[in-house]
Amino acid sequence: MSQHIVMIGGGIGGLFTGALLTKEGFTVTVLEKNAIIGGGLQCFKRHGETFETGMHILGGFMPGQSVHKILNYLGVLDKLNFKHTDENAIDSITYGVDGKTYELPRGRKAFCAYLSQQFPAEAENMQRYMDKVYQLADEVDLFNLRHGVNNIFTHSEEFLMPADDFIASFIKDPQLRDILAYMSPMYGGKAGHTPAFIHAIINVLYIEGSSQFVDGSQQLATALSDIIIKGGGEIFAGDPVVDIVVEERVIQRVVTQKGKEYTGDWYISDIHPSMLFKLTGPAAFPKIYRERVSSITNSYSAFSVYIKFKPDTQPYVNHPRYFQKKYGMIWELDAIDDVNFPKAFMYITPPSGEQGKWASRMLVNCVMSFEEVRKWEDTTVGHRGEEYEAWKEKHMQAIIDQLEQLHPGFRDTIDFCFASSPLTIRDYYNVKEGALYGHMCDCKNLLGSQVTIGTKVKNLLLTGQNVNLHGICGVPLTAVETTEALVGFGSVIDKINEAYSLYKQEHNIV
Ligand SMILES: Cc1cc2nc3c(=O)[nH]c(=O)nc-3n(C[C@H](O)[C@H](O)[C@H](O)COP(=O)(O)OP(=O)(O)OC[C@H]3O[C@@H](n4cnc5c(N)ncnc54)[C@H](O)[C@@H]3O)c2cc1C
Repeated sequence: MSQHIVMIGGGIGGLFTGALLTKEGFTVTVLEKNAIIGGGLQCFKRHGETFETGMHILGGFMPGQSVHKILNYLGVLDKLNFKHTDENAIDSITYGVDGKTYELPRGRKAFCAYLSQQFPAEAENMQRYMDKVYQLADEVDLFNLRHGVNNIFTHSEEFLMPADDFIASFIKDPQLRDILAYMSPMYGGKAGHTPAFIHAIINVLYIEGSSQFVDGSQQLATALSDIIIKGGGEIFAGDPVVDIVVEERVIQRVVTQKGKEYTGDWYISDIHPSMLFKLTGPAAFPKIYRERVSSITNSYSAFSVYIKFKPDTQPYVNHPRYFQKKYGMIWELDAIDDVNFPKAFMYITPPSGEQGKWASRMLVNCVMSFEEVRKWEDTTVGHRGEEYEAWKEKHMQAIIDQLEQLHPGFRDTIDFCFASSPLTIRDYYNVKEGALYGHMCDCKNLLGSQVTIGTKVKNLLLTGQNVNLHGICGVPLTAVETTEALVGFGSVIDKINEAYSLYKQEHNIV
């Protein structure tokens, strides 16, 4: 008899873990609160345009990278339509203060050579910095899909250094330091807190090549659900879990808003731990555990603008573009500063199936602290009041003004636009304080800022971004770990690597 899993949350973590467990012979029931599954993969349509909610840039999709290997193992690579960003520009960064634009090429050597050329006095330091970044990323076994025991004592001394200090320990030029930190919004970087290894992993991931889904990220959610359903599992969307009944540290059943009850051999939570505690009630976990986990600082949130262009007015650009008003702000992007808003943002023109010269849509993400919207925290979607709507409109227009400065005539190319705030993210994903990446990893308190897969509730495991790394690379890796907690340490990694060996043979990859 196959064991039955009840998955609470059908986001990236829930679907990857569900698909991996299905391959191991488990039957998985996924319970998702939103009408459409996917969490960060979910897309929505407005005025005929498809927009992504939480998956714009993909890392790990190049052959040999971890997500690519996992997708190959799951047999879904062929079902996905994604496109790599430009080889000569994985990203560009423009600084408002001096108008300079840097276009960063793909690959360790090219990336290092480009910045060494821009800052010749730092060429040797750049080389040393790059070597160390790659070394730190190599030290993380899971990131490289290797068996390994997490032991901070086996790492090099820079591993847990704050990322800003780490960069400064190699690079003297303050502008180059800033440029090297440009990906910090992709991992919620905070000066003095984000460990160097997180900076290293995300940088190596994207320097080796980034990608974008063609026609939206929902396709991955669909492909993963298909695996679960074909394996005998079920997916129920549009019905939040409202109660998890725990007796003597064992889950008895899970109850949804529509009054349905689900039982399983194991329960896995893909939701923010603080939200999980609300569903289990206080007695389920030891008080000390609840208090520690609830007090973990969350990563910052974001304000987003979604734009549909008039036909044939804005060029399609095949890489993300970053804007920063000045140098020196990158580690404090969430600090409230109405005068300088927007301090920085990232904007993309996601590709569509028949992508030609012109872009049909744009997404702009601007880091924002939840404190900006704290005064409306007790409101719900559609009922936040006129003051909030005026605040949102003002911030959206400030971002469009900045885009107009960068690309004169921009405003005239807009057909329609709308915005979302940290409250939208909080309510849509049910994530505390609208945190982009869940819990913040803090090198000042590494153990205190982490949660493990296993819990004191005997038949409950955790998955998703709050357990380990975030994003499209981190969450599938945690899914591997959660799966291995049930089927045996290292066994899934072995199968993924074996499947990739076959892939290499079939595709003549040396
Ligand atoms: C605006 C934004 C942009 C981002 N851009 C990128 C990017 O470009 N690249 C990248 O790699 N990462 C990006 N991320 C991060 C990425 O989306 C997350 O790291 C990822 O979605 C986390 O996966 P998860 O499974 O932990 O959570 P989610 O994907 O959020 O899944 C959790 C699921 O649980 C569901 N849920 C919550 N409560 C309940 C309940 N009570 N009952 C049932 N279901 C429930 C939620 O609806 C959700 O579907 C972005 C995030 C945001 C918010």
